[in-house]
Amino acid sequence: MKNFIRIFLEGTITNIKRILFASDRVTDMELRSKILGGRIVPTEKVAEVSCIGCGGCANACPTKAITMVKLPEPIKLMEGLVKDQIPQLDSFKCVNCYYCHDFCPLYALFGEAGTIHPNDVGIVESDISQLLKQPVKISDDKIAFISQYLSDSAILKKRKE
Ligand code: SF4
Ligand code: SF4
Repeated sequence: MKNFIRIFLEGTITNIKRILFASDRVTDMELRSKILGGRIVPTEKVAEVSCIGCGGCANACPTKAITMVKLPEPIKLMEGLVKDQIPQLDSFKCVNCYYCHDFCPLYALFGEAGTIHPNDVGIVESDISQLLKQPVKISDDKIAFISQYLSDSAILKKRKE
C-alpha cells in the first residue's frame, strides 16, 4: 500500500511539473513566453541554411503539419553528412505545440535557436559544420528520447503499433 501511495504521489508530482513548467520539453519557458507574447520577430518559416534536414521535426509533429521536401541538389554539410531535404510547414495544420522546435537537434542538442517553429525564433546564423563538432548540452536520457524522433518515420510508425 505504501508503495502504491508513493508511486501515485510521484506520478502526480511529475504531471504537475509537466503542466506548470513543461518539464519534459527542451524549449525554456523564457523562449516560450517570448514566442507566445509575439516578442520574436517572425522571419522565414524555415531557416533553410541552418537546417540539417534530419526530418526530426516532421516525425515529432502530432498534426502532420510538416512535410519534408527534397532539395533539387543535395548539400554536403560536413564529412559524412549530406542534406537532401528540408521541412515545409503548413500553418493551417499547426497547433503551436512547439514539439518541432523541441526536437530539432540544433536546438535540443546544441542549445542554438531552433530552425523551425510556427512563429519562428528569429534569424539563425549558426555555422552548422562547426556546431555539429561541439559537445552536446543535454543529458543522455534526453538524447535517447529525442533520438526516437530523429529516426526514420517508418520506424516511428512501427513503434506506435
Ligand atoms: S508547433 Fe506546429 S508544426 Fe510544430 S510540431 Fe506542433 S503542430 Fe507541428
Ligand atoms: S528537426 Fe531541425 S534540423 Fe531537422 S529537419 Fe527539422 S528543422 Fe531541420
